[in-house]
Amino acid sequence: MPDRKTGSDHEPVSRRAALGLGVAVSAAAVSGAQAAPAPKSTAHEVDVAVVGAGFAGLTAARALRRAGRKVVVLEADGRVGGRTKAGRVAGEVVDLGGQWVGPGQTRLLALAKELGVAIYPQYADGKNIIDVDGRNVAYEGEVPALGPEATAEFAEVIGKIEALAAQVPVLEPWTAPMAAELDSQTIETWLAANARLPATRTMMRLLVRAVMSAEAGQVSFLALAAYAAAAGGFSPLISTRGGAQETLFDGGAWQMAAKMAQELGPAVVLNAQVRAIAQDAAGVSVTTAEGAWRGRYAIVTAPPAMAARIDYTPALPAQRDGLSQRMPLGCVIKVHVAYARPFWREQGLSGLVISDRTEFGPWFDHSPLRGGGGSLVGFFDGGPAQRWADRPAAERRAKVLKDVALYFGEAALSPVDYAEEVWTRAPLQRGGYVSVPPPGALTAFGPALRTPVGRIHWAGTETAEAWTGYIDGAIRSGEHAAQVVGGLL
Ligand SMILES: Cc1cc2nc3c(=O)[nH]c(=O)nc-3n(C[C@H](O)[C@H](O)[C@H](O)COP(=O)(O)OP(=O)(O)OC[C@H]3O[C@@H](n4cnc5c(N)ncnc54)[C@H](O)[C@@H]3O)c2cc1C
Repeated sequence: MPDRKTGSDHEPVSRRAALGLGVAVSAAAVSGAQAAPAPKSTAHEVDVAVVGAGFAGLTAARALRRAGRKVVVLEADGRVGGRTKAGRVAGEVVDLGGQWVGPGQTRLLALAKELGVAIYPQYADGKNIIDVDGRNVAYEGEVPALGPEATAEFAEVIGKIEALAAQVPVLEPWTAPMAAELDSQTIETWLAANARLPATRTMMRLLVRAVMSAEAGQVSFLALAAYAAAAGGFSPLISTRGGAQETLFDGGAWQMAAKMAQELGPAVVLNAQVRAIAQDAAGVSVTTAEGAWRGRYAIVTAPPAMAARIDYTPALPAQRDGLSQRMPLGCVIKVHVAYARPFWREQGLSGLVISDRTEFGPWFDHSPLRGGGGSLVGFFDGGPAQRWADRPAAERRAKVLKDVALYFGEAALSPVDYAEEVWTRAPLQRGGYVSVPPPGALTAFGPALRTPVGRIHWAGTETAEAWTGYIDGAIRSGEHAAQVVGGLL
């Protein structure tokens, strides 16, 4: 597992960037004292200060740099990547955060190509297991086997969501026909009116957890429709073949962030949590524990709930602050379990399990590309993540193994390695995969999500025009912010 303080073995460049800039760090930072807003003369001068070194921030900085602008990327964490992160299980480097890419995620696929990172298909041969509403079945293909009646109703429900999503403009969901009605209810309320069978409702709740890391009773239905619209429909969100879980990156998605940071070199400053942004008619002054920067513009890529922890002068408009108060991050814990071999394949199973009997799940086969080992990757999402985040790690591990053994047998109780990331407790991310607006948030406060506040521009996957919540969306948002801010310089 990477060391949070020093950066990881897999991020040598990020660490170099931090150390390089450490030389210029103020005495206040060394003594641990709170850095006060520095006078202009001692601040590092840039054209644009980018807050956050996730895919959005690194993309924006790279684009501005390539256009000849002077940038700094200020990252609170001791590593780059944000909601993507490298880990290690049974000697393999794995993604502890974002990992899959699917068709339509063209910006991420293009970045992978540019950076020389190969993709390979998610293993999906054999039978999936579905255990919903007391019916435990092994089935093949993308359509969950819920029984004839529920399968038909499930298809109908998906069709209705697709039809509504098609009417939702991704950048302005609050302008959709029926926006007020759709935003006045949770997904759970909508399901109560649109799905009659318990199995259909349970399946939908599990899918909402799996794609938004939140409970159906916590999220606005308009937010779900907008999320689906950004992905070109609900089906691409939940599918492996032809969907967002179709392919993986050889060596992990996190490495693309590391490679972008490598290109940016000392312009990426780690351990530089932005505490304050003050703006005036000429520019922005950005204060961090690692010193102060003066720029003409700032691009803030942290998700709204995290961006709200920064002190702004003058204070943000009420609309923006109200939005930040209504965009909680989903709750998620990601787990990798490694075995001597992928023994479930010998039973004709694909490794995919969706169950309402377990709290851990869904899980997928994640066996290494090279070598004979087997591994599974899975999640505690939404309520289960909330319930398990503060429990001892050993209890979580025991729970995961017990849940896996329920379907794969005793062999599941003897892994060779285990790794996890409790995103919900990560101090600088506080959750994932994405921010999940409750009812009323988008229609009342949505326009503040992207509207710049003076010289402060907002980016990050939450602001993307496509694939909101995904790495691809983060890249798109970074490209957009760089284009807009670049045009103002
Ligand atoms: C467990 C998990 C699984 C996922 N799976 C997938 C997947 O398979 N495929 C996919 O496409 N997406 C997936 N995602 C989502 C994807 O990882 C995110 O959408 C994407 O990485 C977001 O990038 P971003 O740059 O917008 O934000 P972030 O990555 O959150 O970057 C924001 C950065 O800002 C920093 N920051 C916050 N506050 C401050 C501050 N005050 N000062 C300085 N820096 C600050 C943070 O540390 C962070 O590095 C997953 C996410 C998680 C957590």
